Amino acid sequence: MRAAVTSGVEAIAVVDRDEAAGPGPGEVVVAPEAVGICGSDYHFFLGELSDAAGGSQFPRIQGHEVGARIVAVGPGCREQLQPGVRVAIWPLQACGDCYPCSVGRPNTCDNFRLIGIHEDGGLQQRLVTGQDQVFPIDVEQPAVAALVEPLSIAVRAVVRARLEEGERAVIFGAGPIGQCIALAAIDLGADVLLVDPQERRLELARELGVAETVPWTDAGTVIEAVRAWSGPSGPPVGFDATGAPAAVRAMVDVLASAGRAVQVGMSGHEVALRIGSLTEKELDLLGVSCCDHAEFGRATRLAERRAAQLQRLVSHEFPLERAPEAIRFAIDNPTEVMKVVIVGE
Ligand SMILES: [Zn+2]
Ligand SMILES: [Zn+2]
Repeated sequence: MRAAVTSGVEAIAVVDRDEAAGPGPGEVVVAPEAVGICGSDYHFFLGELSDAAGGSQFPRIQGHEVGARIVAVGPGCREQLQPGVRVAIWPLQACGDCYPCSVGRPNTCDNFRLIGIHEDGGLQQRLVTGQDQVFPIDVEQPAVAALVEPLSIAVRAVVRARLEEGERAVIFGAGPIGQCIALAAIDLGADVLLVDPQERRLELARELGVAETVPWTDAGTVIEAVRAWSGPSGPPVGFDATGAPAAVRAMVDVLASAGRAVQVGMSGHEVALRIGSLTEKELDLLGVSCCDHAEFGRATRLAERRAAQLQRLVSHEFPLERAPEAIRFAIDNPTEVMKVVIVGE
């Protein structure tokens, strides 16, 4: 079979590989049909992930946003899993023994392993995985199954935010994760305002049903615009999907007292916050990693309801043979690319 193997920093090639044996008991073999490429793939490819986050684990077949079809089912799998069934893959495997696992937070497991980062992922023609990792999904488009993974981060984010119907939430960043948070929030019945420097991203958000958008110019102007929408005390919930210090700071500054600030965007930057924002306003600062099993199931149902909107996030498709070009294209064209998807057979 063919596989896109990342053999070192900025070194990727499509090569012949032996298929893994299987499926063993409790395992399925799937054929990836669509694999999304995202920011964490760029970080891995460029050697920017810390070792703790799974960096420098070469050689590796990347691809953690995977829509696939089941091709073989091992003994002991649940009945729902049959050859031909389309699935989304939950990439997380947790140890079950560490502190976060013991308190029901396996998505922050000290020893967690992600398919496509710590183990070989979807950029190959066949993948063997455990039955708990696959979620049957009823959608026409394979790319929508691949987008369940980024959508699951958004589901985790609205869960962490305790976001409720009718609440107002400001989202910084209209890339794929920001757009997914907007969809998850709208699906809950929340009112959303999205902030981004790029007008074409805001335009896409409006087409997907986001009622209010504000261009990022500078923090003062944006905070004024958000308060004009929310009322002078600010909205109760904010999400940062940028990892940019200025946006994180604006989120903390704009929120209402007793509000919830949710950090979703990854970055290695530091940010200076006015300490009074926490003591005077008693904000909850909440971080988001990936999601747990139940939240991935929720994301799968959400993707079925919002399939047409999710499909619109796909800006570019490349076949597996051109995966190396695709990842470089995504890194080199950040304004043009929303979501690059590698399509399989
Ligand atoms: Zn991703
Ligand atoms: Zn653990």
